[in-house]
Amino acid sequence: MRLVFLGPPGAGKGTQARELAREWGVVHLATGDMLREALAAGTGLGLEAKRYMDRGALVPDEVIIDLMRERLARPDAARGFIVDGFPRTIAQAEALASLLKDSGQALDRVIYFEISEPELLRRLTGRRICRRCQTVYHLISAPPRRPDVCDKCGGELYQREDDSEATVQHRLEVYAQQTAPLLAYYSERGLLVPVAGEGSIEAVRRAIRAVVGA
Ligand code: AMP
Repeated sequence: MRLVFLGPPGAGKGTQARELAREWGVVHLATGDMLREALAAGTGLGLEAKRYMDRGALVPDEVIIDLMRERLARPDAARGFIVDGFPRTIAQAEALASLLKDSGQALDRVIYFEISEPELLRRLTGRRICRRCQTVYHLISAPPRRPDVCDKCGGELYQREDDSEATVQHRLEVYAQQTAPLLAYYSERGLLVPVAGEGSIEAVRRAIRAVVGA
């Protein structure tokens, strides 16, 4: 199983990818998570990426493509994967296709999360994330049992700096300009499968299972 989860920030890609990857025994490759881990570890990559992430801009293609090249070469990726947050530009999509081709692989499907802008704004600005296990909460629609504490691991919940209202608006513009062209790109290649992203977490998960046949 080799899938890409495509859609605007806040569409639910990470939430779904994390659970479904576990269920299907494949790896979850989220470039945003990788960059945040690099930043937490204080690496050069993390510090360089921060300059872009804080503004809601995209990290340069070469940096992200190198990161994915290394990650896809690790043995666990051969079991299958869900990529989330990548590709975000046509150049990244082409690089992904050629990386996979080099190892005799290809994408099975690109799942596109369809969702309205007001709902994205609501989700992103209310989003809280566990520092330790990355579980995602929402202040209104999926609050933790105890404020600021993860139900699953007891870790501290935090708001991503780029989930502030001003940065969110810019991230949505960047998505429209640089990432939305991927819809036509994957549609032309017969890979794009839309899924309604506005339902409950469980409803969206069922819809994805149905289109993937899992
Ligand atoms: P995400 O967690 O997917 O919303 O990503 C957070 C931020 O990381 C983005 O706003 C970008 O600055 C950066 N980022 C993540 N994935 C990519 C990518 N594929 N290409 C460029 N920048 C990325």
